[in-house]
Amino acid sequence: MNPIADSHHEDADVAAERVRIFDTTLRDGEQAPGFSMDRKAKLRMAQALEALGVDVLEAGFPQASPDDFAAVAEIARTLESTTVCGLARCQSVDIDAAGKALEAAQRSRIHVFLSTSPLHREHKLGMSKAQVLDTAVAGVERARGLCHEVEFSAEDALRTEPDFLVEVFSAAVAAGATTLNAPDTVGYTTPAEIIELFEYLRRHVAGADKVIFSSHCHDDLGMAVANSLAAISAGARQVECTINGIGERAGNAALEEIVMALKVRAPHFGVDTRIDTRKLYPTSRLLTQLTGQAVPRNKAIVGDNAFAHEAGIHQHGMLKHRGTYEIMHAQDVGIAETRLVLGKHSGRAALRQRLQALGHRPVDAEMDGIFARFKTLADKKREIHDEDLEAIALGQDPDATGPWRIVQLTSATHLGGSASASVQLAHEDGREASEAAIGDGPVDAVLRAIERATGNELQLTDFNVRAVSEGGDAQGQAQLTARHGKRDWNGHGVSTDIVEATALAALAIVNRIERQAPVRPPVAVAHL
Ligand code: MN
Repeated sequence: MNPIADSHHEDADVAAERVRIFDTTLRDGEQAPGFSMDRKAKLRMAQALEALGVDVLEAGFPQASPDDFAAVAEIARTLESTTVCGLARCQSVDIDAAGKALEAAQRSRIHVFLSTSPLHREHKLGMSKAQVLDTAVAGVERARGLCHEVEFSAEDALRTEPDFLVEVFSAAVAAGATTLNAPDTVGYTTPAEIIELFEYLRRHVAGADKVIFSSHCHDDLGMAVANSLAAISAGARQVECTINGIGERAGNAALEEIVMALKVRAPHFGVDTRIDTRKLYPTSRLLTQLTGQAVPRNKAIVGDNAFAHEAGIHQHGMLKHRGTYEIMHAQDVGIAETRLVLGKHSGRAALRQRLQALGHRPVDAEMDGIFARFKTLADKKREIHDEDLEAIALGQDPDATGPWRIVQLTSATHLGGSASASVQLAHEDGREASEAAIGDGPVDAVLRAIERATGNELQLTDFNVRAVSEGGDAQGQAQLTARHGKRDWNGHGVSTDIVEATALAALAIVNRIERQAPVRPPVAVAHL
């Protein structure tokens, strides 16, 4: 079989009406500071994205690290219908790694990229136009033999001479690329400009009628979604985007915004996607839970206020006719009309049903643990909200357990600012460690005590505590990022007590570190 010819055929049939959604949440999104996910979280997100209906899922950059490679390979093995894509520079080592990571995919795509703009050619690559052309062709040719379909991206395309871009793209098509991506790498373009470029490309690229043109927009000037929609109106039939618009710097174009714009304004755009829009909100929520990064209340489509019509004059109009102020329904994006509250008398079936509505698909083995934690929490709290359930579901992550666990924790805050904490920890090898420390506040104190007890130095780079449900007995979620060795580690913890949540988050980090590195004996520390 010739996979390339095959995909030409498939693409040509539907090119007129369908826009392909290329999700890069797990690559461009995940590589941004604050959004890193471990392998387990990535797999979970990938499964949610497949259920959402994305056409192509960029799972990572296999050559970047062994972790990235393993995550891409695992996603490639697991997904059933979504095309799984791996990123690669136009270098043999990258392309071969991507091909290997994607081996098990039902449908695989290697996404090769190379800078084409004069600025990047001169200062980043040190290559002439001819060298760029040769390198691009060699990259596409190599990738072609290793996967079902090849996408070629001209990095910084929007600042590339249009005639040179046509030359590179034409050569990439001749070499076997079936998707041509023109990224606005630096978030610099405008809707009018991107329309002009895509129309020009479709007129001049040799073989343009046989390939899919793609946009990849960044939000540095707040125009990523507008620019993506403009590219679609000029013939782009793939858009690269991320859930919640996460991504490098100001982020990528937000998937949920593009999809709902195409749906709500269907007659205007005249194109469709395969996204099940009722899964947009649950998928967005899952991402915020996995990364610990919430979206702003006023975020389009998925923010808490997006469907709240609170102002009195609006409510008056809404009561007479919903259409007066409402252009879409909350249910269309998967926000339940009534927020069901569960309690201590709720059964396993109700819990499972609610978790599924929230985008979680626990297997039976996981369900036992989740149900047990649910009952424990229900004894402490009268009402269990969706946020509580999500926190419980994520607490089941086996990656977040052992070898250390907390036996005892006490903390005290002293008037005037300082605080103290003491922890008693147990290691699965039988060791016990007790340490006390003082700090600028209870969080600082508990971190220092855990550092001492486990012998792992943690340099805190990001710390975030927020309530994950409503009311005075709300659960708090602590999200920590700490530098250890040469990399950043994330951990989160959930508890009705925020100091305990912080301790759990810190311990999750220590546990991740210790499972990957040999255990060092605790360092000797001069005590108070
Ligand atoms: Mn990007």
